[in-house]
Amino acid sequence: MNNNTSLLPHLPVAHLLTQGTSGLGLLGSKCSQCGEMYFPATDSCTACCGSDLAPCDIGNQGRLWSWTVQAFMPKSPYNSGETEEAFQPYGVGYVQMPSGVKVESRLTTADPAELAIGMPMALCLVRYGQRVDGQPLQTFAFAPTIEIEGDL
Ligand SMILES: [Zn+2]
Repeated sequence: MNNNTSLLPHLPVAHLLTQGTSGLGLLGSKCSQCGEMYFPATDSCTACCGSDLAPCDIGNQGRLWSWTVQAFMPKSPYNSGETEEAFQPYGVGYVQMPSGVKVESRLTTADPAELAIGMPMALCLVRYGQRVDGQPLQTFAFAPTIEIEGDL
């Protein structure tokens, strides 16, 4: 089911993604005993102590549950290749998927005027830096699927 390492050779997070029927999705796991879902995938269920979990596409649409702005460069192992001076702040948040699973993710915007708790979000891939050999570094992120209207 998950063979994205060959599909997406320059994507360090390929093991967290799957190609589902509705496009790129997040690869989690689902407990066969109680149905609890996890992201990232795990092999033990904290809800029922079961150990029979199967890979599961947890989807690519959710709602913004909470967010903040990463305003300074994260410590190692953050690997964007940026310098402290050139660092570009980015949004980070939890996106709640239809199953209830909350996914910690980079967001495509760091502008507070473009983010609101509860807004619909969609999965995408973003470039966040480059390796020393010049290859782009990409990761998954969530993007708002509506624009906030009016003055907040
Ligand atoms: Zn379980």
